[in-house]
Amino acid sequence: MPHRNILVLYSNGRLLPANVEGDRALADVFATRTDLSVRLSSEFLDSPRFWGDAYQRAMAEFLREKYAAAPPEVILAGGKEALDFWLRHREAIFPGVPIVHVGIEKEWLEQRQPLPADVVGIPVDHQVLGTIEQALRWHASARRVVLVTDSTPWGREWARHLRAATAQLDERFAIEFLVDLPTDALLQRLRDLPADAIVFTPGLFVDGNERDVQPRELARLIAAHSTAPVYSPFSTHVGTGIVGGRMTTFDAMGRRGAEIVLALLEGASPASLALPAVMPTTLHVDWRQLQRWGIDSRALPDDTVVQFRTPSFWQSNGHWVLVAGAVVLLQAGFIAALLLERRRRRGTADALMQSEQHIGLAARAAGLSLWVLDLGHRRMARRDDARGRVVAPDALLDFSGTFEHVLAADRDRVEETIRAALASGEEFDVEYRVVGTDGTMRWQSARGRADHGAGHGQRLLGVVSDITQRKRDAAEAAQAHAALQHMTRVALLGQLSASIAHQLNQPLASILSNAEAAQKVLQREPLDLAELRDICADIVADDQRAAEVIRHLCALFRRSPPSLAPLDINELVRDTVELTRTNLLMHQVVLATTLVPDLPPLEGDRVQLQQMLLNLIVNAADAMYALPEAERVMTISSAVEAGSIKVCVSDRGPGVPAESMGKLFEPFWSTKVDGMGIGLAVCRLIVAAHHGSLDVENARDGGAVFCVRLPALATP
Ligand code: ADP
Repeated sequence: MPHRNILVLYSNGRLLPANVEGDRALADVFATRTDLSVRLSSEFLDSPRFWGDAYQRAMAEFLREKYAAAPPEVILAGGKEALDFWLRHREAIFPGVPIVHVGIEKEWLEQRQPLPADVVGIPVDHQVLGTIEQALRWHASARRVVLVTDSTPWGREWARHLRAATAQLDERFAIEFLVDLPTDALLQRLRDLPADAIVFTPGLFVDGNERDVQPRELARLIAAHSTAPVYSPFSTHVGTGIVGGRMTTFDAMGRRGAEIVLALLEGASPASLALPAVMPTTLHVDWRQLQRWGIDSRALPDDTVVQFRTPSFWQSNGHWVLVAGAVVLLQAGFIAALLLERRRRRGTADALMQSEQHIGLAARAAGLSLWVLDLGHRRMARRDDARGRVVAPDALLDFSGTFEHVLAADRDRVEETIRAALASGEEFDVEYRVVGTDGTMRWQSARGRADHGAGHGQRLLGVVSDITQRKRDAAEAAQAHAALQHMTRVALLGQLSASIAHQLNQPLASILSNAEAAQKVLQREPLDLAELRDICADIVADDQRAAEVIRHLCALFRRSPPSLAPLDINELVRDTVELTRTNLLMHQVVLATTLVPDLPPLEGDRVQLQQMLLNLIVNAADAMYALPEAERVMTISSAVEAGSIKVCVSDRGPGVPAESMGKLFEPFWSTKVDGMGIGLAVCRLIVAAHHGSLDVENARDGGAVFCVRLPALATP
């Protein structure tokens, strides 16, 4: 890669901070161009210490010799003395090489016009007036502007410049120059400044004692000793104790100069470069000096660059404060959340405890055990209803043992019911027997359903109750019922004895007379075998009739389970009437039957239904006991009504008083001296067992009407 030689000549010495800053900016920009190999050489005129034509010629000769082998493609002038040098000597040493000037005041350049077309650069405007006016705004009581320069050509140039600028201030302000004073005297003057002064200085190269000084170091001393705030046009002075000023930094000057050099290296002609008329300026201030001079930092112009800002506690420790704050906040939030959660939990726990207690009370009151069967873990948890809490985990039963206590005969049925409920998701209800550890058998009822809730596996929730007593009571009730029915029949036996006697008397008397006739026939000779045979046949027939009667009566008074069979109600009525005929005769009761023929059959227990009809007939006869004999008329009717067979027994008795209507069917409710009050109760039971109804009402023309309605069998 060919080397691109660039030579920069600075007006002043190597260590002048402005040169150091500008030189570094140039090198930095060139370094960014990795596609180029820029060789930057820096030379220094060391003005104002070295000056004069002879010196310049020698310098020119030196540069020509030095760079003869690798002459620069572009030369830079860092300051007006350097540009002045190039303008005079360029053609002799680097003819035709374009010149880029950096950091040269606009007024100076204007005085040099017209410059050759290949001399380009962006002029600098120090805006001295702008700085002084800003200072006067900040220090509102200031009436004196003190300007400090030296007596070098550079210093005199500055003095002219300052004079022109401050001439524009209005006459309220006194302008004072401190030029060419020995350093000590200068500092003394500055210490003695009145309170209404401000100081402006570009610094000094030489003091009144011809002592070489660095402008920046002098600025530092001036700022340190001055009782008035000090302002400067140079960025390199910010930080020495001056307040600041409107300025273009040497860094910015160097960078823009380097960019122009690069454009030229890439072949742009100097005339074609559209360069700004002047380098922009910004107001630079030292934050510490703002504090020192009581300048309100909130009233700074928008383009102010504040340097050396002492970070506040917040700025230097802000992030830690934020972190600590965040931690504290987080902690507080966490604690608050925990407290809230605790309160919520307490609330929930209270509600839960309350609900638990309620459930416990309800379970105890109802004698229920609550259980959860965890199918995933094959465990069962039971709430001990006596203590109202869930038993300890070690008391959990193993799933396989869950049904162990169920009586073997019931076990399959229980398991089957639970599995079906699990599969269908429906509730199950199962009764089974368990054998306790003491060997006693008890009845239990389990009711539950599958629960597939979130957060747990499949499980069954349910309640178990001990129904041993209920079962016992039901068995006893059934027994009592049977006994009651039996008693009814036995009671009826007394009432029906006349009828029974009549029923049996007839065949017995017939048998007796036939037997006596047979005896007589046997005494006759020859034996009439044919007659004997007839007599015997009659005896057998009569005996069979008697046996039939007895069989009927036995069936009536025996405690036998109902046996259902299709039957014709009219036939049943007729049979029953037959049984009661004698009884009715004795009571002088006339019986009329109005039976609708061809009634559909019904399914029933003949004996029980007969017993029911007998009760109604006996009651009807009893009801007419006090009536004159001619009025004792009982009617039994049958009919079909809305799919039911209706049989009614009516009498002409006093009927049922309104207040007794509801009590009639209650067991042991009777108005009769010798009544037991169980007849109608049994009738109701029988009718109910046949899915029918039994009702009573009073007839319009007097008497009670008992009607039985039984479902008819659907005829095919
Ligand atoms: P019991 O006749 O043995 O007292 P029931 O159960 O047969 O018992 O009848 C209860 C009561 O109903 C009778 O005591 C009577 O007061 C009333 N009762 C029953 N049938 C009739 C009827 N046909 N007319 C009026 N009252 C009746």
